[in-house]
Amino acid sequence: MSRAHEAGALHAEAGHREPHWLRPPLDVNALVPQLWSSTAHRGGDGRVRVGGMALTDLAAEHGTPTYVLDEADFRSRAAAFCSAFAGFDVYYSGKAFMCAALLDWVAADGLNLDVCSGGELGLALRAGFDPRRIGFHGNNKSDAELVRALDAGVGRIVLDSLQEIERLSILAERSAAEPNVLLRVTVGVEAHTHEYIATAHEDQKFGFSIAGGDAYEATSRVLADPQLRLAGLHSHIGSQIWDTSGFEVAVRRVLALHARVCDELGVTLPELDLGGGFGIAYTTQDDPEPFDVLAKGLRDIVDYECRALGIAVPALSVEPGRAIVGPAMCTLYEVGTTKQVPLGGEATRLYVSVDGGMSDNIRPALYDADYSCTLASRASPEPAILARVVGKHCESGDIVVKDEFLPADVQPGDLLAVPGTGAYCRSLASNYNHVPRPGVVAVRDGACQVIVRRETEDDMFVLDVGMPA
Ligand SMILES: *Cc1c(COP(=O)(O)O)cnc(C)c1O
Repeated sequence: MSRAHEAGALHAEAGHREPHWLRPPLDVNALVPQLWSSTAHRGGDGRVRVGGMALTDLAAEHGTPTYVLDEADFRSRAAAFCSAFAGFDVYYSGKAFMCAALLDWVAADGLNLDVCSGGELGLALRAGFDPRRIGFHGNNKSDAELVRALDAGVGRIVLDSLQEIERLSILAERSAAEPNVLLRVTVGVEAHTHEYIATAHEDQKFGFSIAGGDAYEATSRVLADPQLRLAGLHSHIGSQIWDTSGFEVAVRRVLALHARVCDELGVTLPELDLGGGFGIAYTTQDDPEPFDVLAKGLRDIVDYECRALGIAVPALSVEPGRAIVGPAMCTLYEVGTTKQVPLGGEATRLYVSVDGGMSDNIRPALYDADYSCTLASRASPEPAILARVVGKHCESGDIVVKDEFLPADVQPGDLLAVPGTGAYCRSLASNYNHVPRPGVVAVRDGACQVIVRRETEDDMFVLDVGMPA
């Protein structure tokens, strides 16, 4: 199985053709609503606005590239997710994107938080997030990280190996703590977009294998441990999942273990965590189910399996990251150079170079991820032509948007906006080529607020101890 969904179509063509899913737009100036945050629109003057702010004004004030976070969209998406998943505990997956201001909203809107490193935990604690509402993940947490989590009193720790069970038990005894723990199990289901594969076992680093018996062994060890309180099992099957088909097999397998534990070990596990991975639309080829359909699907699957097994339905939790923050942000770039590159014969491809790239969005290079973009600084009367938007880094794989129709007169000085960059863009940003990482500006009702400052050269050089003062 390919882990990236459109590479095949992309490379199959002669190079100058659009992929099969990308249609020339009827109106190159129109925004495709499902790709944009809810307040985004093109104003009568041709400029794209988000949160009541013209993106040209944001670029003038804050520079480019800049991530623009639509606060109203983030908050209403979080609320919509929680109301669709009413009855579930919702843990926002902080690794998608977090900063102190955003965690205030996460807390205020009633979500819990997942972290998976000491740094993410440190950020959450320093930002004042209630530790009892934090879940701590990771396949290789250090003793120091576990002690920090115990001392802070995090609500739950998701355990990932037999060694970690033993280590946490010793550390908990020393700290006189009795942490709630979940066991991450691998159900042999791997989901990616609308496809999933179910196998007998999974060749990957996370979790305890159900098929191999490790998960049952781990469960009995935790239950026998006086220091640890077993809350339940945890399963996370992948990312960018659009429907519940992949969850059916996963839930059946994890609940079979859950029921066996009840039956043979005589305990009722109170909780079941079904993980995250709910997908979003990055381009017109993506068609995720709405939150309420996903939630109902998951509930039905769990109810059905519990009835079949004759067990009570456990308290359910889910861990969305991308589905909440992904569509809430766009990235603003300035065009620096355009180039018609000959491809042989009559064919050419328009390359549009912008002032960011793989340092602010590694996903196209890392996962062959597709994005879309629009000319944000003006409407154009010109016809649409197929273009490739690339970054400024010294890598030919430094692609921002592999294929998109842009107005034929796109030129240096234009602003481009790429929607759907809220998740795994700023959080995966790097200083490759010593390019400072962009800041994040939150917009709402015609006002803007910097919530993550743009990095400066001094920020980058401060770690270089050989640098003359
Ligand atoms: C990454 C991750 C998530 C969130 O994934 P999204 O695709 O952003 O929803 C949730 N749970 C676990 C364990 C993860 O590793």
